[in-house]
Amino acid sequence: MVASQLANRGVHDRRVLAAMAWVPREWFLPPHLAAEAYEDGPLPIGSGQTISQPLIVALMTQALTPRRGDRVLEVGTGSGYQTAILAHLGARVFTVERLPDLLVEAEERFRRLGLRTIETRLGDGASGWPERAPFRGIIVTAAAPGVPPPLTEQLMPGGRLVIPIGDLVTQELFIIERGASGLTERRAGGVRFVPLISRLGFSEEPWL
Ligand code: SAM
Repeated sequence: MVASQLANRGVHDRRVLAAMAWVPREWFLPPHLAAEAYEDGPLPIGSGQTISQPLIVALMTQALTPRRGDRVLEVGTGSGYQTAILAHLGARVFTVERLPDLLVEAEERFRRLGLRTIETRLGDGASGWPERAPFRGIIVTAAAPGVPPPLTEQLMPGGRLVIPIGDLVTQELFIIERGASGLTERRAGGVRFVPLISRLGFSEEPWL
């Protein structure tokens, strides 16, 4: 996976490539999908949600470039795969998920892998995690129609927010940085994520 899907498609950070090689993606999937763990795409994880394509996980991680001890907020724990990659890189990860069943399963995986720098929370991650802010990095793994203001407010100087922005069909990855003169943004290509369900995102029945 590392050689054929990541290193030749823009993932050049050796620490990120090593983390992607270390975390067993099959542990983050329902057992009947384990054989497909290293295929080049997203996969269902139950409750109508998905584990992201490995390339997207690697590119979003590389965009954050977390260093040991960095405080990183993740919105959308899902299977916990992205969380595990960030924790393996030495980040202190604060991860928020709105669906209790997914969060319980992810917590069990973190225990099995011996990852101890992860704190979890059930709730709406679009509000961030004010009690644990500020963050060096914020990664949103669900698509939003715009940037939820609490997230930029909880970004520390020099920090980066990576978030898919768009509608339910077409989205682009945005990398937002808090620099000396305020926020700057850069676009990093098209993506397709499940919706961020929140009063600051999409409603649960977005077609209504
Ligand atoms: N990072 C995950 C992984 O590695 O498996 C993939 C996450 S999945 C694409 C998006 C997740 O965001 C889903 O688990 C979904 O329940 C969650 N989600 C959606 N809206 C949310 C919200 N407002 N707060 C927290 N989690 C949310």
